[in-house]
This record gives sequence, C-alpha cells and structure tokens, in this order.
Amino acid sequence: MRFSSMYIPTLKETPAEAEVVSHKLLLRAGMIRKLTAGLYTYLPMGLRVLRKIASIVREEMDRAGFQEVLLPIVQPGDLWQETGRWEHYGKELLRFKDRNDRDYCLGPTHEEVMTDLVRGEVRSYRQLPLRLYQLHTKFRDEIRPRFGLMRGREFIMKDAYSYDADLKGAETSYQLMYEAYQRIFTRLGVQFRAVEADTGSIGGNFSHEFMVLAAAGEDTIAYCDHCSYAANVERAEVVHNAQIVHETCPAYVECPTPNMHTVHDIAKLLNVSETQVIKTMLLLVDAKPIAVLVRGDHEVNLVKVQHLLHANSVELAPAEVVEKVTQAPLGFAGPVHLQNVPIYADYALQGSTDYVTGANAKDLHLQHVDLERDVNITAYADVRNITSEDPCPRCGGKMMLTRGIEVGHIFMLGEKYSSPMQATFLNEAGTSSNMLMGCYGIGISRVMAACIEQLHDDQGIIFPPSIAPFTCVLLNLDASNPTVTEQVEQIYKILQDLGVEVLLDDRDERPGVKFKDADLLGIPLQLALGKKSLAKGIVECKARHGSKVELPLADFATAFQDYQKQVIDNWTASIKPAVG
Ligand code: ATP
Ligand code: MG
Repeated sequence: MRFSSMYIPTLKETPAEAEVVSHKLLLRAGMIRKLTAGLYTYLPMGLRVLRKIASIVREEMDRAGFQEVLLPIVQPGDLWQETGRWEHYGKELLRFKDRNDRDYCLGPTHEEVMTDLVRGEVRSYRQLPLRLYQLHTKFRDEIRPRFGLMRGREFIMKDAYSYDADLKGAETSYQLMYEAYQRIFTRLGVQFRAVEADTGSIGGNFSHEFMVLAAAGEDTIAYCDHCSYAANVERAEVVHNAQIVHETCPAYVECPTPNMHTVHDIAKLLNVSETQVIKTMLLLVDAKPIAVLVRGDHEVNLVKVQHLLHANSVELAPAEVVEKVTQAPLGFAGPVHLQNVPIYADYALQGSTDYVTGANAKDLHLQHVDLERDVNITAYADVRNITSEDPCPRCGGKMMLTRGIEVGHIFMLGEKYSSPMQATFLNEAGTSSNMLMGCYGIGISRVMAACIEQLHDDQGIIFPPSIAPFTCVLLNLDASNPTVTEQVEQIYKILQDLGVEVLLDDRDERPGVKFKDADLLGIPLQLALGKKSLAKGIVECKARHGSKVELPLADFATAFQDYQKQVIDNWTASIKPAVG
C-alpha cells in the first residue's frame, strides 16, 4: 500500500477531548474519529489493527472448538422479560419500540438471544456440548463513555456461549476458554493477568477477568506476592481478623471542624490517626438509603454492598438524599443518632473504639464515639476494598495492588439463563434437565486501546508485531529524486514478493515528517532510503521499539528476512505474560 493513496489523517496536535494516551494516539495516528459520545469510526489504519486482533481471536476460538455464528444486534424485549433483565439491566440497555409498539433493545450482550437459538434446536444430551461464538457490535448506553475505545457506547466484542449437559462438561468448556484466552493475549503480545472477578450484571457462579496491566486501567487488581491468588479489588475478600476490644472510651463530645472536609484534615486537627476516623457513606440500594461505615483510610466497596444486600443496584447517594437523611450539609454525616436508615459497618471497625465521626451538623464532628455504645449497628460485614496492608485471603502472604484494563471476562453461569428460559434437554436417563451454560467475552476494540496504553513512548504507538497495521514502513527520503525512487520501488517490490505487509511512504514530504508519522503509527520496522544511503549501498532500518541497523542493498531480501525474524522473535521473547 502507498501512503499517498491511503486515508491516514495524522495530526500534529493532540485533540483536547482525549484524556488517556491510547485515545490521544489513536486520534493523532488517524486510526479513529469520533462521531459523538462513545461512538467511533475506524479509519483504514485502525481497521487493519482491529481485523488483526479479530483474526487472532477467531483462530483461537476455532482451535478451542467453538463455532462462529452471527446474531442480530436488535433484540426483542420479550426475551429479556423472560430472564428478568428487562427490569434489572438498567439504563445501559437502550430500549425502543418498533412501529407495532413492540419492545426492542440493542444488544449489550447476547445470553438471551443465543439461549433462545439453542433451546429451539437442542433436545438431547447427544447434541451437547454446543459451543458457539460471534464477533459483533454491542451497544451499552454507558453512563460515562470515555477514554475513546476503552469505554465506548458502541464497541466490538467477541462473545462466546457454551451449553453443556453436566457440570464436568461445563467445567471443560470454561477451561477451554481460559486456555484459549491465555493463548490469545500471549499472541496479542501484551502483558496480562487472569484474576478472579465479580460476576456483575451477567451473573453466574464464578468468573475470571483477563487484565492488561497498564497504569490507565480503570480496575485495580490485588495479587499475592507469594501464591497465585489474584482478584479484582471489587471481589478480593478481606480477611476478618480484627481483634475485638472491650475497652471503654470516654463519653463522646462535639468538636468544631469548620471547613474540614477530608479525613486527613480532621485527623490532623483532632490529633488522631486516620484509622480512628470513621467515614459515613450514604448509599442508595435499590433506591433506598443506607449508611455504610468504613475506617478513614479504607474505601467502601459498592459491589460487596450489593452482594451483601442481594441488591440490583447500589450507588452513592446524591447530595439531596444525604442532606435529607443527615439533616446536615455534605461532609458531616455520622452514625450517632442517625435515624431511619440501616447502618452497616466494616469488620475492621469492630476491632477498636474511640472513633471520630461526623455529627450530622454543619462544621461539627464527634470525638470518642464507641460504636457498640453509641450507635445502632445493623450488621458488621466485609464492605471495603482490600489494601496492601491486608494479608492474602488464601495464604496470608503480602498483597500487591496494580492497575489493569479488563479486556476479557469468562463466566460459569450454570442454570442462570437456561432455567428461566427453559433451555432443557433429555439426559441419558430420559429425564429433562437444564443445560449448564458459560459465557465468554473479549472487548476487541478495547484490546486495541489497551495494547497502546501498555506500550507507547513520547513519539507514538509501539504496536506488537502481531497486531500492527503493517509489519514494515518503507520511507522514500527523496521522493523527487528519480534514482532514489527507482531503488525504493525495487525494495518495495522485493518486500511485497516476500509477502511482507509494507506501507510505502511515497508522499512528497520532508524526511522529518515521514519519520515522525512512522513513529506515531507504531509500525514495528522502519526502512528508509535516500541519496546518502543509496551512495553507501544500504537501507537504514529501525525497529520501532529498539535499535538501528544497516542492511545491504545487494541481496536485500535475505538480509531483511533475517533481520525481521530477529526483531520479531526478540519481541515475542521480551513479552512475559504475567499469569494469575
Ligand atoms: P466493565 O466493567 O469495564 O464495564 P463489563 O464487566 O461490563 O466491563 P462484560 O460485560 O464482561 O464487561 O463484557 C465483556 C468485555 O467487553 C469486557 O471484558 C470488555 O473488554 C468489553 N467491554 C465492556 N464494556 C465495554 C465498553 N463500554 N467499551 C468497550 N469495551 C467494553
Ligand atoms: Mg460494564
């Protein structure tokens, strides 16, 4: 392909709308453009990358014995009524009506539609297992679409579904996907980690997320430095080992705390440790307010609260609710005399007494609060995020925290969908049973962003060779010089004959512009030819992530093949996937 005839609108300036590196670089490299919030168009270079990711995923899904199908994006509301998700999925589900006033939605995921297909066809255990997948557009009306391809509203997902006759079969399906995902992310050339995860709105028995390790990740991963335990902090259990004390503390007193809003400020003013300050969080659980108490240095975990209370939704209460419940402005909520709301306290608070809390009055806190004596606690529970000070829940080792981008998620669903949708089959004994199901997603478009988050430099993208839009970019440094151009064209032909995916930068631009664009685009190998190199009888070569070499013009084909092999082998060897 020739640069001059391709639509690659690179930008010198970083567009103001982009917050994270991958979004900036994808825009600057002319790979994507925004249509409106959360909706992106893929331009030719971006689409090449997307297709490469997709084809690795397809190859490994096929290899694992899953068969590709293609389901509609528009889904009838009736199916979602059957599983109860029409009510429970929330606003991410974009619903609409057709001309006959029937309910429809845009598929955010396809458990219902796939199960509908299977229940209509499969009658006998002999037809199981059935393992299907698709690569398709999904739509989720995300509350905060952001970071470009990382959290779009429309995005591309590989979603797979398995139907098995028994638990052993379901476990095999899950394991097949776990191993396929390991191969996929290894081949994609990124550092990743599989972690135990919460099952979220998809539900089910257990699940693993595959995380690309990157600072810009929206997820925090907790892993043990001693054993193989790794989990999303949403899920990581906190060992409940606080020693319950029976000390008495003095009666509580009111302390003025004008303009003090943070735990840090209050602890400093009152000369106590942050662990002695209680944060009182007002939450809406299925639209009803509750209070959750955590230690000043801890963070409340909404997912754990949701599981604790078997709720459909949990969110931070908006200011007006906090003010109504506490009768005080934001920032002064406290559990003493807090009326009409259940109060849940984190286990860590059971271990001590003599706390500082908000006083439910402007500019006022209470000191010397004893939860047993002064507060009507509904229950103590694990309602916080694990920290690096907590022990590993499996082996007691040291926990480490790191950031990750969730690129894949596998779920063991059991009968969650087959039971309400009556996806049954006749087993060997001739009795009817529910199929056991699993579902397995990979965010194809998110992978593209995640790879860039993990690997880039000041100059631009550094694509792993397996997903780069081209393997090689060939720069004509003197496009107006016929001798140079003739030689470049010869090299171009040699590369094409070798089957190398090569982009020829034949534009009438200065060398500086060409080198800059080549770096920005992240193509693994850069070859450059100009008057000087021609005189020396060489082609200048640079690996995007490494060193420069000179290859002889004479017998270029052999020299190039050796060089390419070396660079690409080194690349693969330099990636050591962190596997949990
Ligand atoms: P998240 O917690 O990031 O919202 P999720 O748990 O909702 O993800 P799943 O329902 O498991 O995601 O979807 C499968 C995969 O689809 C995810 O692992 C992720 O890679 C991708 N994905 C999910 N939501 C988006 C989105 N809004 N934009 C791009 N990719 C997404
Ligand atoms: Mg989501």
